[in-house]
Amino acid sequence: MPIQEKNYWLETASTPPVQSASDLPEEVDVAIVGGGFCGLSAARALAKRGVNAAVLEAQTFGWGASCRNGGMVLTGMKLPVPTVIRRYGREVVRKMYAASLESIDLVEQIVREENINCNFSRCGHLEVACKQSHFDGYEKSAALIRREFQHELRIIPKSELQREIGSDIYFGGVVDEASAGLNPARYVVGLAHAARRAGACLHDHTRVEKIEAESRNAIRRFRIRTSRHTMRAREVILASGAYTTEAAPALRKKIIPIGSYIIATEVLPADLARELSPRNRMIYDSKHFLYYYRLTPDNRMLFGGRAAFFPETEDTVRKSGEILRRGMIAVYPQLRDTKVEYVWGGTLDFTLDVMPHTGRIDDMYFAAGFAGHGVAAATWFGAKLAGLVCGDKDDLPFTGIPFPTPPIGLRSGHTWALPLAGLWYRILDFFT
Ligand SMILES: Cc1cc2nc3c(=O)[nH]c(=O)nc-3n(C[C@H](O)[C@H](O)[C@H](O)COP(=O)(O)OP(=O)(O)OC[C@H]3O[C@@H](n4cnc5c(N)ncnc54)[C@H](O)[C@@H]3O)c2cc1C
Repeated sequence: MPIQEKNYWLETASTPPVQSASDLPEEVDVAIVGGGFCGLSAARALAKRGVNAAVLEAQTFGWGASCRNGGMVLTGMKLPVPTVIRRYGREVVRKMYAASLESIDLVEQIVREENINCNFSRCGHLEVACKQSHFDGYEKSAALIRREFQHELRIIPKSELQREIGSDIYFGGVVDEASAGLNPARYVVGLAHAARRAGACLHDHTRVEKIEAESRNAIRRFRIRTSRHTMRAREVILASGAYTTEAAPALRKKIIPIGSYIIATEVLPADLARELSPRNRMIYDSKHFLYYYRLTPDNRMLFGGRAAFFPETEDTVRKSGEILRRGMIAVYPQLRDTKVEYVWGGTLDFTLDVMPHTGRIDDMYFAAGFAGHGVAAATWFGAKLAGLVCGDKDDLPFTGIPFPTPPIGLRSGHTWALPLAGLWYRILDFFT
C-alpha cells in the first residue's frame, strides 16, 4: 500500500492559526510577495521600525518550502568553503561565513524574543562521509574553517562514530555544535504572529499577478495587481523563493526549482531513537545526491533526500516515499519493520552558482537561492532586506556577486533538463 501524502510538521502546528487581515489596503509603504520565513522575517523587521508593510501570500503562510523542510538550522554554505574562496576571495567569504553563523543567532533570538514554541535546540549537526576520500577531506576543511573563520568543527573518526549515529555504513564524520534544529511549521506560525503583533498586515490567499512600476508626481511606486484587488506600494520585496511566478519574471528566470522529499516514521521506542541518533543531531551525508535526517521531537525518524529532481507532484511524492524508505533502511537496517506514516515534498530554490543572492531586480528588492540552508538564511536575508528598504548601508557580501542566469531547461517553468542534472550528480557521486 503506497504511503499517503501528508506533511508531519503541519499536523503539529495548528495552534493558534494565523489570522489574515480582512481588507487589502489600497496603499502600503512596502509590499512583500511571499509569506515564508523570508517574507515574514522582513515584515516583522519592517513593522518593528514603524514601516507599513503588507505580506501577500498566494496560499497560506509557510505553504511553500518553509513548512516542508527538515527543520535543520545549519551553519556554513551549500558549496565547500575552498570553492567559495576561489570564486570570491577571502575577505568576501569571511563575511559570508559570519553571516551564516549570525543567521542562526538571529533565529534563536527571534524564537526567544517572540516566545515561539518550536522546539528550537542547539543540538549541532553531523555530516557523515560516504567514502574514505570524503572523510580525508574533512580534516583539511576543518583546519581551513578554523584558520579563516575562527570556527571550530570536530572530526569524528569511524572508530568513534557510534557515539554519534547508530549506523556503521559511514567512514567517519564532522560535527558542528553551532547548528540547531526546530519545528519549521511552528516557527512559521510564530514568526507570522510576531510580524502581526509588530504591526505588519498579513494577507493569505492573495496571489500577486502582475507588478508594474508607475510614476506619480515624478515619484516612482509600484502598482500590484492581486487576485483580490490592485494595490500600490512604494517598495516591493520579492520573497517568493522556489515558488516565484510570472509576476516576477526576471527573478523567476534565475531560479532552478529542485524537488526534495521527506518521509517520517511512526513514533519510535525511546531506546531505539537514542540508538539511531544518540546526540539528537541534524545529520546529512557527503554525497551530491544526499540524504538528510533527524529525529522529530516526538521521536520519529524524519528522512529526506532528492529522491526525484523534479518539483513535487502527486506522482513524484508517491515514488519518493518508497525510494526514501529504501534509503533509510540502507542507513538504518534497524528500521526495516518500522512503519512510514508521512511523505511529502517541496521545492528548493537553487541558483546556477549554488549561492544565495540579494539586491534589486527590476527595481524591486529580492533574496533567493537559499537551497538547503533556508531556515536560517531566509530569516536573515528577510531581516536584512528590511534594513535595506529602511536605508541601512548595503554591506551584505551577497549583493555584489554576479548572478548568472541558468540555461533554459533548468529554469522555473522550463525544467525539462532537470533529470540530466540529476544524472550528472549521480555520476559525480559515483566517481568522486
Ligand atoms: C523538502 C525540503 C527540505 C528542506 N530542508 C531544509 C533544512 O533542513 N534546512 C534548511 O535550512 N533549509 C531547508 N530547506 C530549504 C528551506 O525550506 C527554504 O530555503 C526556505 O523555506 C525558503 O523560505 P522562503 O521564505 O524564501 O520561501 P518559501 O517558504 O518557499 O515561501 C515563498 C512563498 O511565496 C509564495 N508566492 C510565490 N509567488 C507568489 C505570488 N505571485 N503571489 C503571492 N505569493 C507568492 C508561495 O506561495 C510561498 O508560500 C528545505 C526545503 C525543502 C523543500
